Amino acid sequence: MTANRTHIETKLIHAGELRPRPSGAVSMPIFQSSTFEYEGQSSYHEIKYIRLNNTPNHVVLHSKLAALENAEAALVAASGMAAISTSLLTLLSSGDHVLAQDCLYGGTYDLITKDLPSFGISFNLIDSNAPESWKSKLQPNTKAIYVEAMSNPLLQVADLQAVTRFAKEHGLVSLVDNTFASPVNFRPSEWGYDLSLHSATKYLNGHTDIVAGAIIGRAELVERIKHRLDHLGGSLDPHACYLLHRGMKTLALRVRYQNDSALALARFLNEHSAVKQVNYPGLESHAGYGRARELFDGFSGMLSFEPEGGREAAQRFIQGVTIPIVAPSLGGVETLVTLPAVTSHAGLSAAERHRLGISDSLIRVSVGIENTADLIADFDRALKA
Ligand SMILES: *Cc1c(COP(=O)(O)O)cnc(C)c1O
Repeated sequence: MTANRTHIETKLIHAGELRPRPSGAVSMPIFQSSTFEYEGQSSYHEIKYIRLNNTPNHVVLHSKLAALENAEAALVAASGMAAISTSLLTLLSSGDHVLAQDCLYGGTYDLITKDLPSFGISFNLIDSNAPESWKSKLQPNTKAIYVEAMSNPLLQVADLQAVTRFAKEHGLVSLVDNTFASPVNFRPSEWGYDLSLHSATKYLNGHTDIVAGAIIGRAELVERIKHRLDHLGGSLDPHACYLLHRGMKTLALRVRYQNDSALALARFLNEHSAVKQVNYPGLESHAGYGRARELFDGFSGMLSFEPEGGREAAQRFIQGVTIPIVAPSLGGVETLVTLPAVTSHAGLSAAERHRLGISDSLIRVSVGIENTADLIADFDRALKA
């Protein structure tokens, strides 16, 4: 039933489901019980208890998530940041060093550059498109290399194959944050990654109603991370497990539609006279196009663009659109728009934003599952206003 030969749509529905089904229930029930009857377990980590991440709702998600990315094992956590911080705090100890991509999700960037140093863990930032420059940043105590499948908000695609080659050559653990691509578009273990991390808050859940995280990859590492998560305590509640599980069933339908819709919208914006620049890896003009075609099964539902007319034009557009909701986060069924310069990247100086290519008029779009023609018409109206 869960053989590797089945496709992702089938795995989303059937992989990992309990057999026999509890009381025959077709939909996985919520086991809202903090503790369970003792069954003779000899290890602390196997006692069935919500914080130990092993209730039936956890177990089903773990096998389904591993199957989706053709990986050995998986683990869910209370948020994307719980997945990321627990993984890094498992792989790295005081005195260790990590190489990390220079343009990371804000929370991860601060974790690596501000929190980890206070635990005695040092870092160097790397240009993920210049593998020849990485060796000079390597230290005898370097243990891991950390990148993201697509960068936020410019949708750049790192040299993801060079990362795993470099990691193997130098004995590092390779980690990729696969949130933006989702398992539908990219499966890191197939390309040699040790660990794939997700904010399951985004595409995996897809319905903008929980925060959750996932760690997917080599069984030996996932087991070590589970033990640390058991102690750090960032466990996903069974009710949130249930919502994540329910949301995931439609992941392939949603993401494929979002891929198509974002591509159509990106092409439309690219031809629009009121638009200066469009960032979408599905456009042949995008620097990441070739790499995205090779690595990904789809170009994602995320794009960003700059209207002509600077910050005011961007503000006018944001106020003018009627379908998208102006809100942070991404990957849900609703189209969301944000201005990174005043939201996700407001913490950076104007000079730093400029260096990263994030202009004051840049608009980020997370394309939802509304009708594509309706979205295009709404964007057109707002751009012409
Ligand atoms: C949202 C996000 C995170 C953090 O996830 P939370 O679920 O909010 O903790 C990490 N990485 C990326 C790429 C994200 O978009």
